Amino acid sequence: MIPEGFMVKTTNSEYTALTIILATGNKKNRPKNIGIEKFEGKGVSYCAICDGFLYRNKSVSVVGSGEYAISETNDLINVVKDVTILTNGELAPEFRADNVRIDTRKIKELQGNDKVEGVEFQDGAILKTEGVFLAQGIAGSTDFARKLGIITNKDTIVVNEKMETNIKGLYACGDCTGGILQISKSVYEGTVAGLQAIKYIKNKKGGE
Ligand SMILES: Cc1cc2nc3c(=O)[nH]c(=O)nc-3n(C[C@H](O)[C@H](O)[C@H](O)COP(=O)(O)OP(=O)(O)OC[C@H]3O[C@@H](n4cnc5c(N)ncnc54)[C@H](O)[C@@H]3O)c2cc1C
Repeated sequence: MIPEGFMVKTTNSEYTALTIILATGNKKNRPKNIGIEKFEGKGVSYCAICDGFLYRNKSVSVVGSGEYAISETNDLINVVKDVTILTNGELAPEFRADNVRIDTRKIKELQGNDKVEGVEFQDGAILKTEGVFLAQGIAGSTDFARKLGIITNKDTIVVNEKMETNIKGLYACGDCTGGILQISKSVYEGTVAGLQAIKYIKNKKGGE
């Protein structure tokens, strides 16, 4: 967020806006069957900016291989001791930094007792790590939400009947707000969010 509104960073551009409507669906990009659920809040994180400082001077891993994984790694490298990007069988990204290494082996499961202590690969090798940041594919709606401090409920963004989130000027609609995952509901919510966003901008401009 910037003082006059928001800034949206894409892979090749940046946009500023007075208001934003999040409509990024509810797709979740998570590696399956590696024990993520067991360690949520115990070493598994979905947000480098939010949780990075908890891993100051520690060795952590980022699971992913695309722009999102690189962006999360960039947010971590000045805080943590080192980062291992785990591509989980995908091609390695073109990314180099002194305290970053890349491992392309497939992950078997996360290891640990009360918290994450390591990652076991399918070849039986174990990487010691104290934090695992999930950043597979592209960032989804709740990934953005967490970074911006938007209130979420499980994997959905919490909105009121005007499609407002808890952050002024930031709306969400469609599958990312949960409930009935149907086109009709998404279209309705998109209409409400659009009209409310126009109202918000008019009020802001009128108040200048
Ligand atoms: C197989 C299948 C069949 C379905 N059949 C029906 C049906 O018959 N009738 C019905 O009513 N509904 C159906 N649905 C549900 C319907 O498709 C959804 O409810 C609807 O598409 C939700 O709209 P949305 O705009 O919220 O999200 P989506 O349609 O998912 O759109 C989200 C968009 O955001 C983009 N996006 C996400 N993250 C990023 C990012 N980081 N950067 C840039 N872009 C991003 C995505 O690429 C996508 O284009 C079906 C769904 C599926 C999967």
